[in-house]
Formats: sequence, C-alpha cells, structure tokens
Amino acid sequence: ESLINRIAAGEIIHRPASALKELLENSLDAGATSIRVIVKDGGMKLLQIQDNGCGIRKSDLPILAERFTTSKLSTFSDLSRIATYGFRGEALASISHVAHLSVITKTKSDTCAWKAYYLDGSLVEPKPGQTPDPKPCAGNDGTIINVQDLFYNTLTRLSSIRSTSEEYARILDVLTKYSVHNPKIAFLCKKAGSAAPDLSTPSDSEISHAIRLLYGHSIAKELINVKEDNDESESWSAESYFTNTNYQAKKMVFLLFINHRLVESPRMKRSLEAVYHTILPKGASPFVYLSLNIDPRAVDVNVHPTKREVHFLNEDAIIERVSDAIQQALAAQGK
Ligand code: ADP
Ligand code: MG
Repeated sequence: ESLINRIAAGEIIHRPASALKELLENSLDAGATSIRVIVKDGGMKLLQIQDNGCGIRKSDLPILAERFTTSKLSTFSDLSRIATYGFRGEALASISHVAHLSVITKTKSDTCAWKAYYLDGSLVEPKPGQTPDPKPCAGNDGTIINVQDLFYNTLTRLSSIRSTSEEYARILDVLTKYSVHNPKIAFLCKKAGSAAPDLSTPSDSEISHAIRLLYGHSIAKELINVKEDNDESESWSAESYFTNTNYQAKKMVFLLFINHRLVESPRMKRSLEAVYHTILPKGASPFVYLSLNIDPRAVDVNVHPTKREVHFLNEDAIIERVSDAIQQALAAQGK
C-alpha cells in the first residue's frame, strides 16, 4: 500500500518546483502577505516556505497529511466549483509520501507555535522514544513548511532529477511568476546559507512594477495594459500586460493565470504568438502576462488538478477575444 501511495504521490509531485507550487498556493490561500523560501540543493535537500498567513489550528495537525484533508470545502456544491485547482487535500499528503515533512505553525489565537513531523500521511515522532503528537515551540503567526530529502524513497523520480541548479531555476521561475501576479505580497527566495536573496520583492507594489523589477527595466516603456470585461451571459474578464517590441528572450515569455493559479494553455499561447508574428521580426519574442478570471464551473474538472494545462468553456471565443484586444492595442501603439 505504501508503494502505491508513493507512486500516486510521484504523479502529483514531479520535482521540487511542483512541491513549491502547491505550498505557495497554500500560503496564498492562507492570506499571507509575506512568503519566504529557502532552498538547499535545488530543493532536493530542503525546501522551506515560511508565510505569515492564518496558520493551522493545533487540532487540525494530526490529520493534516491525510489524503483528502482540506479546510477549503465547506459545502458539497463547493466541490464542483473548486475541484479543478487541486483543492483536494492531496498536496501535503503526497509530499509526506515522498519526503520528510515537518510543519511549524501558529494561529493568532494560539499562545505558542506547534511543530509536527509527518511520514506517509501520519504524524510521526521527531526522535525515537518521543511521542508523535505536535510539540509546543517558539514561532511567529503563520506557517513554516519544511520538505526534506525529496524522493529519498522514490528512485525513479530521484534519477529523473539531473541538476540541482536546473531545479533551483525552476523554483525561481515559479516564484517569479507568482510574484508578478501577487504584487501586494512580499516574496523572498534564497539558497540556504547564502545572505543575498535571488528573488526579493517589496510588498504593496503593482503588477507593472513587479514585471519591470523581475523581467527587466528595459521593458518598462513597452508595457501595454488591456482589460476586457464581458457580458454577463458568459462572464469572464481578462487583464494583460505585454510588450510591443522584442523582449530579450529566445522564446515568448508567457505568464498565464486562470483564477489566480499559474496554468498552461498551449492554444492561447499559439494564438498570441500568431498575433506577434505579424509585427515582430523573425526570431524576436515578446513578454506577455495574462490573468483570466472565468466562472470556476467553466474550467474543465476532468483534467487532473496537477496538470497545469487547462481547458475551459468558450475557450475559442475567449482566446479570440483576448488575442484581438492585444492585437488592437499593439496596432494602436504602432501608429
Ligand atoms: P488543499 O490545499 O487542497 O486543501 P493541502 O494538502 O495543500 O490541501 O493542504 C491541506 C490543508 O492544510 C489545507 O486545506 C489548509 O487547511 C492547511 N494548510 C496547508 N498549508 C497551509 C498554510 N501555509 N497555512 C495555513 N493552512 C495551511
Ligand atoms: Mg493545497
């Protein structure tokens, strides 16, 4: 049974960056305004994420890493609304099957923080001879999640990880994209033992500032902002920032958030590439940030929550409308 759990967990947690994405979304769901990440060996040795969110109640700690434990479904109808984005209580459970997981957490009303260790879905004792129940400790309001020795028991996954620096780059990429999308939140990421962070953003910023800070000041004057609000019949909205000239990258840099989750839509990407194809010289590539808000019921629930590629209702119409809006804005600028 533990082998099956491990295989299932490996399907959800592919690499350090996929664990990070799950933990990051938990911190955002917890209302954090500050998120700090510390990484050792590309997240293979240690992936630590500290937030100042709502914390986890002590009484919830014993079942925290059990599958389908989630505080995010309050009614049955929520299930169809929310199931798409991994609100299924599988992330921490999965991590506990492929790594050593520990949690330090404190809610506002707690007088101290609590620390708990997990393995294969259950609380475990920190040291032989101790009891598995959470131990009181010092700590700030919020949550620290430690993921250690990722894939120590999953050799197929372990052997698919080729370079820790490549994994670190993936982690920074995910964090950078979420930093753009959440400019009010202060993000920090650094390697363990290093004083200088590799990513550091202020709180209370704006998306356009975050793009300049994280993707280069040179694109500042090129950024165009487009908002699309649509008829109630098919209610959705979009906001985009994009360059009108070449961005110094080999391929288009495309950040797509649907309902605040970082996802991939190859079809949307191809459509935007086609828009730019007509105005940019061959081999040049733009930067595009696009945030779509769609009725959550219209996002395909049959796609596995961890598959970042999504499909949604009225996909063609939405893609066309967004592409047209960007094309028109680019044409207007070109005049
Ligand atoms: P899900 O996010 O799908 O609910 P997870 O396994 O990611 O499932 O997390 C399980 C539960 O643990 C969450 O529903 C939430 O109650 C709690 N939790 C996890 N991370 C945090 C955090 N950083 N701050 C507060 N609560 C958290
Ligand atoms: Mg989660």
